[in-house]
Amino acid sequence: RAKSEGRDTYRFYEHAMGQEARSRRIMEHELRHAVSRREFRLVYQPQKKLDTGEVIGYEALLRWQHPERGNVSPSVFVPVAEESGAIVPIGEWVLETACRTAAGWASNVTIAVNVSAVQLHSANFPQTVHRILLQSGLSPHRLEIEITETALVRDMHRALASLRQLKALGVRVAMDDFGTGYSSLSNLRAFPFDKIKIDGSFIRQVDTNEQAATIVKAVLGIGRGLGLPVLAEGVETSGELSFLSKELCQIGQGYYLGRPAPIEDFSETPEAGSRQEAAASAA
Ligand code: C2E
Ligand code: MG
Ligand code: MG
Ligand code: MG
Repeated sequence: RAKSEGRDTYRFYEHAMGQEARSRRIMEHELRHAVSRREFRLVYQPQKKLDTGEVIGYEALLRWQHPERGNVSPSVFVPVAEESGAIVPIGEWVLETACRTAAGWASNVTIAVNVSAVQLHSANFPQTVHRILLQSGLSPHRLEIEITETALVRDMHRALASLRQLKALGVRVAMDDFGTGYSSLSNLRAFPFDKIKIDGSFIRQVDTNEQAATIVKAVLGIGRGLGLPVLAEGVETSGELSFLSKELCQIGQGYYLGRPAPIEDFSETPEAGSRQEAAASAA
C-alpha cells in the first residue's frame, strides 16, 4: 500500500514536472516570435527630483500582451527569455524603441533601459548600443542603462569591459535593485556606476520602520561619499517620500510619484504637449 502510494506520488510529480517543462518550452517558442508579432510594448515610469518634483527621466518597462494569456509580467517572462537567449533580440527591440521614442521628446530628460546579464555579455553589445544611438539620433548621455548585480557576477572581466565601452560612448550606467544582490558593496567599487537605485524593498515603510530607515540612511551616506546620486525605487506613500526628502535622497520613482504608463500619458511627446496646451487655453 505504502509502496503504491509512493509510486503514485512520484508519478504525480513526474507529471507536474513534465507539465512545467512543457509550458516553459511553449513560452520560449512564443517569446521567439513575440517581437515580429508585435506583442511587446513599453510603458514609462517617471523619475523625479525630490527637492523640486521635476521629472528628470523615465524608466522604460517592457510589457508582453500575449494573445491568449493577456498581460504577462516581465518577472515571469524575462527569466525565460534570458535562459533561451531570446532576451538578446527582445532587448535590442527595447533599446531601439526606447531610444527612438526619447529622441522625439521635447525635453532632454533621460531614458533608463533595463539590460539583462545575457544581453550585457552577448557579443558586440556596446556596438549594438552605438548603432542604436546613431540610428535614433539620441545623444548618448540621455541613455542610462540599468544593470542588476546578477549581470555582473557572471563574468566580471567581460562585464567591466562592456561597461567601460558603454561609458566611452557617453552612456550612463545605474546599479539597479541595490542591496538585493550578492555583493553589492564590492560591485559598487569594482564597476563605474553613475547612480545607485535602492531597491523598493528597503523603501517600504522606511518612515515607520527603524531598521529600514537605518539601511536607507547608510546607502545615502555611501552615495554622498562616492559622489553618486541615489534614486529610491518603489516610493508608495507620502510618508516614505517625506522621509527620503528629509534625508536628502536626490531622486525618487514609484507609484506615489507616477505609475508606469504609455508615453502618450506624459507631456514629453509634441502631440501630448499641444493637447495639454489646448486644454490649458480652453480652461
Ligand atoms: P526593475 O527594473 O527594478 O523595475 C521596477 C519594477 O517595480 C517595475 O516592475 C515597476 O513597475 C515596479 N514598480 C514601480 N513603482 C513601484 C511601486 O511604487 N511599488 C511597487 N511594488 N512596484 C513598483 P515591472 O515593470 O513588473 O518589471 C519588473 C522587472 O522586470 C524590472 O525590475 C526589471 O528587472 C525587469 N524588466 C522590465 N522591463 C525590462 C526590459 O525591458 N528588459 C529587461 N532585461 N528586464 C526588464
Ligand atoms: Mg530597472
Ligand atoms: Mg529595480
Ligand atoms: Mg527589480
